[in-house]
Amino acid sequence: MHRDFTVTSGTTLRCKGWRQEGLLRLLENVLAVGEDPDNLIVYAALGRAARDWPSHDRIVETLKTIEDGETLIVQSGKPIGVVRTHPKAPVVLMANCNMVGQWAKAENFYRWQDDNLICWGGLTAGDWQYIGSQGVIQGTYEIFMRIAEQNFGDNLAGRFVLTAGLGGMGGAQPLAGVMARAAILCVEIDPKRIEKRIEVGYLDKQAETLDEALALIEEARANKEPLSVGLCANAADIFEQIRQRGIVPDIVTDQTSAHDLIYGYVPADYDLETVRRMRREAPDELMAASTRSIVRHVGAMLAFQKAGAVVFDNGNLIRTQAKEGSVDNAFDIPIFTEAFLRPLFARAIGPFRWIALSNDPDDIRKIDDWLLDEFKDDAGVTRWIELARKHVPVEGMPARIAWLGHGDRTKLGLAVNRMVRDGVLAGPVAFTRDHLDAGAMAHPNIMTENMRDGSDAIADWPLLNALVNCASQADLVAIHSGGGGYSGYMTSSGVTLVADGSAAADERLEMTLTNDTTTGVMRYADAGYEESFDEIARKDIRHFRLDTTGKGGSGA
Ligand code: NAD
Repeated sequence: MHRDFTVTSGTTLRCKGWRQEGLLRLLENVLAVGEDPDNLIVYAALGRAARDWPSHDRIVETLKTIEDGETLIVQSGKPIGVVRTHPKAPVVLMANCNMVGQWAKAENFYRWQDDNLICWGGLTAGDWQYIGSQGVIQGTYEIFMRIAEQNFGDNLAGRFVLTAGLGGMGGAQPLAGVMARAAILCVEIDPKRIEKRIEVGYLDKQAETLDEALALIEEARANKEPLSVGLCANAADIFEQIRQRGIVPDIVTDQTSAHDLIYGYVPADYDLETVRRMRREAPDELMAASTRSIVRHVGAMLAFQKAGAVVFDNGNLIRTQAKEGSVDNAFDIPIFTEAFLRPLFARAIGPFRWIALSNDPDDIRKIDDWLLDEFKDDAGVTRWIELARKHVPVEGMPARIAWLGHGDRTKLGLAVNRMVRDGVLAGPVAFTRDHLDAGAMAHPNIMTENMRDGSDAIADWPLLNALVNCASQADLVAIHSGGGGYSGYMTSSGVTLVADGSAAADERLEMTLTNDTTTGVMRYADAGYEESFDEIARKDIRHFRLDTTGKGGSGA
């Protein structure tokens, strides 16, 4: 059956209301901008929008027929049924890829996936929140700017960034690098991914050889011109070759799908076709080859670090895989969250997004204008919005990401709902955020590595976050855990709201957006971060600061 992966425009409803219609449009959007929609794959190697096509089609049919007061239940991408709730209850509730502790291992995941019992929703694929490469662009940009501030001045002009992976999320790297004014080289093994990033405007140029790539980078660096260059090759090989030439980039990272040794990472010395065949026929051999390649890949990154480059892990588990392969010092490379972004998360400032459900880019422009005016004293917000509107192309439904925090998200949500009500915007707007958000993720090798109180692996926080959002009338709430190579590594929660201009939406937006960030501030306060205590004091958050370290307690 031929499938058409386009998004819907205009304001004609196919569902009983905008809450259902908005979620349906978001499902369509994650496939329209996804990496392999024919197989329902959105990003991160195996992150799926639905379990299989029958599941997808039943979800679509159900969203078209359910009414307020009915809630669709989804288990790992498969619709289970509809329960009668009440008009303020979520439209969709999901639990994706949650396995019981001792069983949460990659081999079980692959087995249960083959038995069609489970599928991985990534973070934003399974719950239809993905907005294309833009979803992580500000995060990557903020990392580059923190590195610039700490090491090079105001920006990365004249600096060489080396990285790899131009997939769904990694594809944001070249544009984020250019926005920070760097000369950035991205190594990618799949020529189709390079083509796609050039086509959507995220990558400037492709070089045919390493010599050509380095010459382009050197010229841009010398002229302090921002430039992104893609090179079709294996990153393990190229990182080593650059090191052997005695060249030390200013910044080195990586965003290949190293978390998945079978379906994500492509080992050096193997071509793509062979790897695709081995995924089915020789997965164990492929895993071993991927680990060997990652050992070399991370070995080169450590050598760059030793030679003076700023090297960081960009959230793909590459250090963990290298350590499994006996690179004992792989964790000398810091994780980006702890190294650069934690003070923001401690204030619950994180990757918040909104999507114009009418598919009219003018709605995003109008919201940008509102933000520029309303946040004119906040240099961080205005600098980002100006840059984003200049550089970030529209991919799928028009969307914007901005790192906003507690109170600011609520203010924006309510203002946009008013703009919908007053007819200023062409149609309703959906609000969501990455799972990599203050209260929403436990991942001891990414989000919560080296928490001040040692609470890295405590998953109560994202579960509480999901429960709170459910009680706060969100339109969709999801609880995810890791799949594939992330199995057993993470638990996270996602939330979506539709601003349809109604008074009921005012209530939902105010409660959910406020309480979502409240749990984020509380989570970091509980771990002892001063920024969170400051936020609590300034914004009147009812957090209990109990001293439970004495262990005496008050008795049962
Ligand atoms: P993806 O699967 O869409 O893309 C990965 C890309 O890496 C593919 O294009 C693949 O061809 C390429 N690749 C694999 N092995 C390679 C090699 N040895 N050399 C060169 N290229 C190689 O995945 P994605 O969505 O781009 O995510 C990439 C990684 O980043 C994942 O591990 C994902 O979980 C992680 N991630 C991090 C964040 C964050 O906030 N930092 C956010 C989302 C995803």
